[in-house]
Amino acid sequence: MTEIRKRVLLAKPRGYCAGVDRAVQTVEEALKLYEPPIYVRKQIVHNKHVVSTLEAKGAIFVEENEEVPEGAIVIFSAHGVAPEVYEQAKARSLKAIDATCPLVTKVHQEAKRFAADDYDILLIGHEGHEEVIGTAGEAPAHVQLVDGPEDADKVTVRDPSKVVWLSQTTLSVDETMETVARLKQRLPLLQSPPSDDICYATQNRQHVVKEIAPQCDVVIVVGSRNSSNSVRLVEVALDAGARGGHLVDYAHEIADEWLEGATTVGVTSGASVPDELVMQVLEHLAARGFADVAEVTTADERLTFSLPQELKREMKAAATARAQEAKALVADQLG
Ligand code: SF4
Repeated sequence: MTEIRKRVLLAKPRGYCAGVDRAVQTVEEALKLYEPPIYVRKQIVHNKHVVSTLEAKGAIFVEENEEVPEGAIVIFSAHGVAPEVYEQAKARSLKAIDATCPLVTKVHQEAKRFAADDYDILLIGHEGHEEVIGTAGEAPAHVQLVDGPEDADKVTVRDPSKVVWLSQTTLSVDETMETVARLKQRLPLLQSPPSDDICYATQNRQHVVKEIAPQCDVVIVVGSRNSSNSVRLVEVALDAGARGGHLVDYAHEIADEWLEGATTVGVTSGASVPDELVMQVLEHLAARGFADVAEVTTADERLTFSLPQELKREMKAAATARAQEAKALVADQLG
């Protein structure tokens, strides 16, 4: 009897995007530069493991600025904040470091610009998500939230010739296009964002999952439940033909029954997931007969973002001070 060949299709790109990498590095560098604790408003990125690792290094995660002692350092998360959050930080004399992803900042700028031109802005996104709260906060009087295609019928605008849609960066591309199509039935003059709001990382991770899902009995997505882009990857996998799709934070959460009768397992991870967690999933699968791993690559990502200016300035000042101290010490010893 021939043995059935079990295999894993490993998606690439997967895991960390440029914005997450920058946000995590921001906290790590701040912890090195200043004495812990360092306060972080909200989860720096939506991943359980990343948050607990940074907590162990001295980061304290809070929900609001009021929980941060006056005058302390606070880092704002990758998802962005509304302008009032900067005001609150200023009022408490907090030293704020802004780790908002530059691609989220881009959407904030669009919201501000269209609001200044007195447009109605239809913001497609998930109600209550931090990114949506931050973006809407740029122009609350102009923004209406559209949470999925069903919400399209509830929209009311002042002038149907002056309306634009913007979106959260981590949505399902297909569902967003469905929402836009529904909106356009009612508002034919609806304008699109000047450039894609759904970011490159979200799009790339969904694209590769669509490639592998039709060949997979089950797709395992590594990511946390509050990670929008990770949750979307499970939905995309199921829509694209995977028979099963599951989200796990850690390898040990994979239930043996998900693998029963499976020959091909797809593996990917959300944009806030360190690759070590994916490697642990591969080990877990290998121990259950899925040792043959083929990586399927659909894009090459090279984008990186530099650290926030306010942090870079302080790092440079600290490096200069250290160099001067070392020079003075040498001069002392020689003198
Ligand atoms: S998922 Fe996209 S928008 Fe969000 S942090 Fe990553 S690159 Fe930035």
